[in-house]
Order: sequence, then C-alpha cells, then structure tokens
Amino acid sequence: MARDRLLVIYTDLDGTLLDAETYAYEAARSALEAIRRHRVLLVLCSSKTRAEMAPLVSTLGLRAPFIVENGGAIYLPCEEFAAWVPEAEPCGAWMRLVLSVPRARLQECLAELKRSLPVPIVSWSDLAPEAIAEECGLSLEEAQRAMQREFDEPFRVASDDPEVLSRMAAIVAEYGLRLTRGGRYFHLMGASDKGRAVRALTEILRRRFGAIFAVGIGDSENDAPMLAEVDLPILVRRPSGEPDPAVLQLIPHARVTSAVGPIGWNEAVLDLLAGEARG
Ligand SMILES: [Mg+2]
Repeated sequence: MARDRLLVIYTDLDGTLLDAETYAYEAARSALEAIRRHRVLLVLCSSKTRAEMAPLVSTLGLRAPFIVENGGAIYLPCEEFAAWVPEAEPCGAWMRLVLSVPRARLQECLAELKRSLPVPIVSWSDLAPEAIAEECGLSLEEAQRAMQREFDEPFRVASDDPEVLSRMAAIVAEYGLRLTRGGRYFHLMGASDKGRAVRALTEILRRRFGAIFAVGIGDSENDAPMLAEVDLPILVRRPSGEPDPAVLQLIPHARVTSAVGPIGWNEAVLDLLAGEARG
C-alpha cells in the first residue's frame, strides 16, 4: 500500500465495530487509537439514523463523513468539505448528500399498501416511542433516536400469506421503491444501498484528497455491496464464530478475521496499519 494514498476505512457498526449484543466497542480501542495516530479516515456506514450515529462520530473523535440508513445519505463535516461537494445541502454542522428518496414518498406508498391490502399494517409512524422501545429492547432515548428515520420506513404486516406478500411487493415496485425484510419488520426504502453510498463518497474523497486506498469492514449481507466497492474487503466473524456464508459467496476474496466482532475488527485494523507502516 503506497504511503502517498489516503487510507479510508469504511466500517459497519452492529456486529462489526460494535459488539452484536452489548453495542460496546471497548475491544477495538487500541485500533481506534492507532487510527488517530495514522493518516486514516474512518467512515462509519450503518443502517442507523443520523440521530444515532452523530453522537458516536463525536464520541470517537472522528472528523470524517458518515453514511446513514443503509446508504440513504452521506453526512460530511462542513468545514472540511463545503467547497468540495457543491451538490450537498447544508444541514447544521454537516453537509448532507441525499442518495435515496425522502420518507414522505415512502409514506405515500405505505398509505397505498394500507388501502389495498386486506391485512393490518403497523408502521413506526403509527407507534409511540415507548412501544418501539419495548418491541426492540431499546431504552426510551435510544428508541427516540432510532425513530428519527429519514429514508426508511419499518413496518409489520399481520400476515404471512404469500398472495398478500406478493401483492405488497408489486405495489412497492410500482412506486419504484425497495423492500427488505429484517428480523421483526419489513423496511421500505429507495433504491439505495451501502455500496452506492461508498462509491459516491469514494469519488468525493478522490476529488478532495487525491489517491486513496479503500478498505471495507462488515459482518452481514447488507455489507456485501459496500465490500464489493473497496480495494480490500474484510469480513468480521459473527458471534457463532463463523463468517456470514452469504457474504463469502458474494465476496469470495474477502479477508476473514480470526476473531468475532470488535475483537476481529481490532486485529484486522492493527494488521492493516502495521502493513502500512512497513510500506
Ligand atoms: Mg452488522
């Protein structure tokens, strides 16, 4: 890895930099400190909202862009990037580059689903923060942050009837939107993903800094598009001890960590920086 390139590390959060159960990043502390000493840009790239991610960016002392809601938008620090991203809009201390469709459009589609399908549909917009906190095992404050979604509408459908689900998929497609199924909810969103956001941000970073070497670190299938866009993809083992087989199939050249979650993250980043120091 040539030293005249800026090293950029795109990282997923849950199960990758953050422990899958406790959301702690203590195990990654020595790599995070090493990143601060090197010329490395650490870019958080998660399904979390801006309200959830901005406090973490600040706790970690990062002055770097971050990618929210599975690639829905990129937030860039104003003072570093204002002159470099004319297409972004000012948003407090940040510039925001929207890559997806706004939530109002998602809600139009959701209203159509409620009108057209013969089953109850409950979306996050219909629920109080207390209810979401209880359903998701979050504190009230965490639920309030998670609810500040800009580009994704989580909802549940009281049916597993294939006919209902296929009618639902057809309506979503008519709106030009995308549907993914998480553990508890369906997620309605625009045609964005982590890979498109990483591609767009890498382009901006090249404009701003010149040559870069991009690394991606993730643990699950929604990270595969991100891992496909970088020079060095790294797959962190899951709590079972195994890497996600679906990601390995999509990104067979990914480097697999020997440890789980943030312990694996720590090891992979320290290895990378040691390799860089050797030139
Ligand atoms: Mg993850």
